[in-house]
Parts: sequence; C-alpha cells; structure tokens
Amino acid sequence: MEIKFAPLQIARNNTVSYSSIHEKLENKKTIILDGGMGAELEKNGAKMDEKMWCGKCSVDHPELVRKIHEDYINAGADVITTNTYSTTPISMRQYGYEDSIEDFNRKSVQVAKEAIKNLNKDVALAGSVSTFGNFYKLGVKAMIPGFDEQLKILSGEGVDLIILEAMSSQADIVETMLNCSTKINIPVWLSVSCVTNDQNQIMLGYNDTIDSDTHVYENFEISINNFKKIHNGPILVAHSDIKTTGKAIKTARENFDGVIGAYPNKGYYEKPHWRFIDDMTPDDYLNEVKTWIKDGAQIIGGCCGIGVDEIKAISILKN
Ligand SMILES: [Zn+2]
Repeated sequence: MEIKFAPLQIARNNTVSYSSIHEKLENKKTIILDGGMGAELEKNGAKMDEKMWCGKCSVDHPELVRKIHEDYINAGADVITTNTYSTTPISMRQYGYEDSIEDFNRKSVQVAKEAIKNLNKDVALAGSVSTFGNFYKLGVKAMIPGFDEQLKILSGEGVDLIILEAMSSQADIVETMLNCSTKINIPVWLSVSCVTNDQNQIMLGYNDTIDSDTHVYENFEISINNFKKIHNGPILVAHSDIKTTGKAIKTARENFDGVIGAYPNKGYYEKPHWRFIDDMTPDDYLNEVKTWIKDGAQIIGGCCGIGVDEIKAISILKN
C-alpha cells in the first residue's frame, strides 16, 4: 500500500513550557525526560490491569499517577509524559473500554498537569501516543483513525508536545504515525525501539518479553533515513536494552542531523508486571548516559525499569 505524506511542518506552535525546551535544544543543552510509569506505579502499590496494564491507573489511582509525576519532577525531569501509553483508542476498543477513550486520555493529561502545577516548576508535558494493543492484525490503513483520535484528545487537552512511542513497531506503522502527527500543530518527538541482530547490526525491532521472541524489522540506518524525510523533530531510541541503545545512538548520529535522544529499558515484562533486574545501579546508568551525550544524544530519560532513582542520578548532567 502506498502512503501519501503531508509536507513537513517546519514551524509548529510552541507553548511557553515548550519554548524553554526548544531553547535548550537549540543551545545544545541536555534535556532530562522522566522514567517509566508502569513499573513505578506498581512499586507504589497500584494495581495493574491484565489487559490495559497501567492504563487504568489515571482513573483508578489518580493520586498515585500524580505522585509518580511529582517524583520525576523532583528528580529533575524537564519533560514528563502522560500515562497514555496503553490507552490507545485501538487497545481500549479491543478490551471493551470504547466508551471511556476520551475520559481516560483526558484524565491522564489533567493529572500530569496538576503535578506540574503543584510543584510550580518549568516542566513540559509530553502526550504519549503509542501502538499498544492489537495493531498488527488491523493493517496500517485501519490504524489511522485511532492515531488521529488520541492525537486530537491529547493536543486538545493541552499537552506541550506529542511523543510518538512507536516501540516495537515496524517502519510502515511508524511512518503512518508520523503522517498522522502532521495534522496537529504542536511539536512531535519520535521514539522507536532497536535490537542487535546476529550480525551485530542495529535493527528496528524489539524483544518480545511475552513470547521471548525477537522481532527484527529492518536496518535502523534505512529506517532513520526514511523517517527523516517526513519528520524533523527529535528521534529517540527507546524501550531497547542498554547496550543496543548505545550503538543505536551512534547510528542515529551518523544518519540524522536533528536532535537525538534515548530512554532505554532495564528488566523485562511478564504480563501484566514489569520485572526488575538489579544488574545496574543508578550510578552505572549515569556512566552509560555520559557516553551517549558524548556521542550526540541530547534528550535522556528512561523507559520500563528505569525509575526515579536513575532519573535523579542523570539529572546532574543538566547544563
Ligand atoms: Zn519500555
């Protein structure tokens, strides 16, 4: 199927909070993102949903979601992300929550905004739009209304930027998300996941922790050269293991002139819980991150298993 892309939008509306992020990026400064939400929520006693993972928490435990956002802001995050990774319209329809799509997504934005307001810090809010749910069975064309719907709700509710969390997605899905995002007028960041294949090449793909399978799509170098034709915002390597992340940052730097960043994983998912492995201290993480910044990464945070302690450790790199 041929996908037609809208022309690149160079100028996008910046909110006050995004203006300060934009300025820091222009001045080659380091931006600190938050870490994972699901695992931190679980640590704080929130109940995970068998199907929707941590997606229901903004409605069931808003005080805990707000607390995690506040913990990340206190740890030094410049950007926090809405708890909307698993509240995609596609997954919510799939799991019988079709009447609550707007409510869940709006509440997630509101609770994050409350956290920023409570602490009165200059923090930007990223709205997470993802491919969580039964995307693969749908086909690319059928995904478009779901992306459009989540983008519209989150931008309408006032997030400062959108982060397309295209984790574990193949290139045509990523390109479809990027194309949908040109319809909204706020900054868009793209995150994708990578794996290292048997030939030690960096590939767009992911380790499926549920069936222990590794899905390998295409050479990351090819992907990034295609993505940059339709996207000029930051590109981040996310939800990937630490070693692969370091190599993927180098590949990204060699192939993309824009802003790059990373927020990797630690541990693995065993439905519906994130399992931690203690093979890396926050200081070890800080040392990895220092190398990535030297290699050109400007936005750093954490995904599943990287929590408040790690974000606190790396926030000393803010300059
Ligand atoms: Zn993750």
